[in-house]
Amino acid sequence: MPRPGSRDGDPVEHYDVIIVGTGAGGGTLAHTLAPSRKRVLLLERGDFLPRELANWDPGPVFVDGKYISPDTWYDADGKPFQPQVHYFVGGATKMYGAALYRLRPEDFGELKHADGVSPAWPLGYDDFEPWYTRAEWLYQVHGAHGEDPTEGHWSRQYPWPAVSHEPRVQQISDALASGGYHPFHAPCGILLDEANRPASICIRCATCDGYPCLVHAKSDAETIAVRPLLDQPNVTLLVNAEVEQLETDPGGGSVTGVVVTRNGQREVYAGDIVVVAAGAVNSARILLRSASDQHPAGLANGSDQVGRNYMFHNSKAVVALDKERNDTVFQKTLALNDFYFAGDGREWPLGNIQMLGKSNAMAMKGEEPKLTKLAPRWSLDETARHAVDFWLTTEDVPKPENRVTVDRDGHVRLAYAATNDEEATGLYHELRKILNHVGMADHHVLDKNFYMSMNVPLAGCAHQAGTCRFGTDPASSVLDVNCKAHELDNLYVIDTSFFPSIGAVNPALTAMANAIRVGEHLVSRMA
Ligand SMILES: Cc1cc2nc3c(=O)[nH]c(=O)nc-3n(C[C@H](O)[C@H](O)[C@H](O)COP(=O)(O)OP(=O)(O)OC[C@H]3O[C@@H](n4cnc5c(N)ncnc54)[C@H](O)[C@@H]3O)c2cc1C
Repeated sequence: MPRPGSRDGDPVEHYDVIIVGTGAGGGTLAHTLAPSRKRVLLLERGDFLPRELANWDPGPVFVDGKYISPDTWYDADGKPFQPQVHYFVGGATKMYGAALYRLRPEDFGELKHADGVSPAWPLGYDDFEPWYTRAEWLYQVHGAHGEDPTEGHWSRQYPWPAVSHEPRVQQISDALASGGYHPFHAPCGILLDEANRPASICIRCATCDGYPCLVHAKSDAETIAVRPLLDQPNVTLLVNAEVEQLETDPGGGSVTGVVVTRNGQREVYAGDIVVVAAGAVNSARILLRSASDQHPAGLANGSDQVGRNYMFHNSKAVVALDKERNDTVFQKTLALNDFYFAGDGREWPLGNIQMLGKSNAMAMKGEEPKLTKLAPRWSLDETARHAVDFWLTTEDVPKPENRVTVDRDGHVRLAYAATNDEEATGLYHELRKILNHVGMADHHVLDKNFYMSMNVPLAGCAHQAGTCRFGTDPASSVLDVNCKAHELDNLYVIDTSFFPSIGAVNPALTAMANAIRVGEHLVSRMA
């Protein structure tokens, strides 16, 4: 185990690459770099998420918010709130639903929306396709390429067949198909072998979405990417190591020190290459807090773009109440992209519909404490038994005024106003229409506050992205096409910050694919 960093300011331990954060971006990058034998240091603000029965218990998870990290951010008016962040090895993927979608090819181009333009990426779908394939195989994704008419070309089928629908979901799928829709099997990152059940780690329970997995059967960044590296001599992971800021050489062209608070002590680490992957908000915070004489507006921020263009999807969780009992356990196997784009009488793209982890009484209590306060447990149980849950995702377009800044004390300030409400409402109406095809009257629909009673628009930052977008023009982007900061020769940012737009599907696979892409670039650079 290498010596820890200096405590008096001079870095003593030098690495080839330092990675800040171990989530979808950072963890996947470490996994890509490890075989190169280069010395990699992973700095993670959190610790390992404890494996305990509470992992699968909706009471601690949804009612108590046990795994939401204590952090306070402030809105544009300075009002404090607790963001839904998860500082653990594996980052947000410890709680994610492992729905691992590719963006559509059109998402890489310019798309017109009700509230503005979703800009083109500097690379196209074809550039990303090989990396998507690598990510799908690394993260053991189950799915069926070829079913969804909106998907792009694929060079290799998923490593696992799609997770089979349970009977009620199969009925819904069949009814949608006979109504002229194009339902498809949702891509799921789980360690499940349906053909050989005894060999399977995943027990196909109801707690994939929003819960940590007690048996490590969810393909999260800890399980898939970081844990397998722990015994590798060239990889060091330090937990409870919060990166505060980055220091540069006198000219400001290279990062020379990574300043960390670990166990209450200040330490400094040095690496030839420094990669920030702390999540879109925290990565911007680190760069903005690293302002210096050479970078007065924050590191890599000559363009004034760091922290801007924050996006997180205009999402809605919806519970439809079925006349029949819905005994589905693993519900998130079905999705629909029929409304993803404009056309067929739709003026605007509307987004993606997918099924969500199954509601239960405790989760409902956590999500809607006021509404459910007086409801007896039996009535909630009964409601949950009839619940069919959907997740609607509409693209959020980047706006420069939706931005992360830091105050004098280094706290995050998040100014944000949602975009594309008109499209999100349109998608909701489409869902209500299709419910008529699947035996659920459209008036039996409840809004489901997936994010409990918290300030949903701001605190529900699960799909945070933007803030350090990549591009070819240093005046309008922070990073170049390899996700290296335009203004520094050894600083990279590879979490969802790099997204110039977010599309309308879940973001993690794109972060993973990009981390592999940038990882291979770094291996070549270091060679
Ligand atoms: C409940 C939930 C459900 C979700 N479901 C899905 C889904 O089904 N499909 C999907 O595609 N996406 C889903 N997401 C989103 C997905 O998890 C994120 O898009 C993805 O993890 C983002 O990757 P990242 O690398 O940008 O950040 P993260 O994965 O969050 O990683 C950031 C890491 O940086 C660490 N860190 C932060 N600050 C510092 C610091 N100062 N110093 C050191 N370390 C630091 C954090 O602890 C964390 O480990 C979900 C998220 C949540 C919360």
